[in-house]
Formats: sequence, structure tokens, C-alpha cells
Amino acid sequence: MKNNNDITFPVNEIFDSIDGEGITQGALTTFIRLTGCNLNCSYCDTKYALTSDEKTIMSIDKIVDRVLSTGYSRVTITGGEPLLQNNLPELINELIKNNITVNIETNGSLDISRYLIPGVIITMDYKCLSSNMESKMLLSNLELLRETDVLKFVIEEKDFDTVRKILKNYNIKSHIFLNPIFGKIKPYMLVDFLKDLHKENIDTKNIRVGLQIHKIIWDPDKRGV
Ligand code: SF4
Repeated sequence: MKNNNDITFPVNEIFDSIDGEGITQGALTTFIRLTGCNLNCSYCDTKYALTSDEKTIMSIDKIVDRVLSTGYSRVTITGGEPLLQNNLPELINELIKNNITVNIETNGSLDISRYLIPGVIITMDYKCLSSNMESKMLLSNLELLRETDVLKFVIEEKDFDTVRKILKNYNIKSHIFLNPIFGKIKPYMLVDFLKDLHKENIDTKNIRVGLQIHKIIWDPDKRGV
């Protein structure tokens, strides 16, 4: 049987900050950014994490030691696309054993069912038209999300109809966020869109407009924040 020193991950960066979006927005979090992604979204702001040029191979023990050295109670595992790592459940189990709440950011194209466990929040994107990746979405994920999870649409105006279609056709139990593609749409337009959804009798009680506050606090292109 492998021990935690034998199981390794391609780590792009680990840093301490606040969660920039979602239900834990503003809370202190240690980010584990893993390298590699199966998509290539038009608006990707972490292109540096897509290829293996920038990676350090780290064992579970090394990653957990790094997380515990700061002592925050939350970790966000992001990428790239973290679900590409077959051994991700082992890393998550070790973090949970150390009383860390784990938020996994995933792109919506890979099966989330292995990760629907207590102590884990799934923050899943639905990639719309403007990403050029909508055809890669795994629709069966949508109704698997729990009340404690998050479905996130990162959108501009031409994506509104896709959001409508998904909200009308699927019974989504999770929190839902409408986030602007940075620089492509004024955030107030998302508020107007949310009002329109309400007028169209779509259930809006779990839907919120979100902003990526790390792009407001720091330079939008700054890394490791
Ligand atoms: S899924 Fe995320 S990391 Fe991958 S290309 Fe799209 S935005 Fe970039």
C-alpha cells in the first residue's frame, strides 16, 4: 500500500490569502493550485497553470505540512483542473483528518460524484458559450450538487440565454453565483439579469451576483493573491 510520501501532485503554487469568490468569499484560505487542465477557456486567467512548465512535485505529507504551517482552517484546491488527479481523494482525506475544510474548484467537465463527502465543498463552473467550452460540460453533475455546494456561471451578456436554459431545465439545489467575465460586462448588468430571471418566474432565492474581490483588492493580473 502506498503511503502519503509516495503519492505526489504537480503543484503550480501554494499561497495564503482570502477566498476571492463563492460562499467563503473573504475568508482566510490556503490555496493549492494544481497544474494541468483538460479545457482551454477563452477567458482563462490562470494559463500559467495549464501546462507542466511551472510545477513542483509534492507529496501529500509535504502539501499538508505546508498547509498546517499557516494554520488556516480552510483550503481551496484549484487549478488548472484538480479532478484530473486520480489521487485527489487521498489528499482530501488527509486534509479533513487535520480538521481542514476543503473547497474544490472544478470546471464542470469531470464527474464530481467521488467528492460529495462531508467536509468538502464543491464549487463547480458551468462553462457557457463565451468560454468556447460548453460542449465539454458534464450535465449529469448539475443535479448532484448539494445545498452546501456552489454552481458558478462566469458570464457576459451573450451567455444569458444559456444560464436561463440551465436554470429552467435542471433542479439545482446548490448556491448559484452569476460572476462577470472580468472586463467584458458591467456587474450591474448581472443584477438586471437576475431581476429579469425573477420576473420570468425562475426561482432566484439561491442565486447571487458575485465579484472576484481579489481582482478589486489587488492588480487583476497579480498572482498568488
Ligand atoms: S477550466 Fe479553468 S483553468 Fe482550465 S482553461 Fe478553463 S478557466 Fe483555465
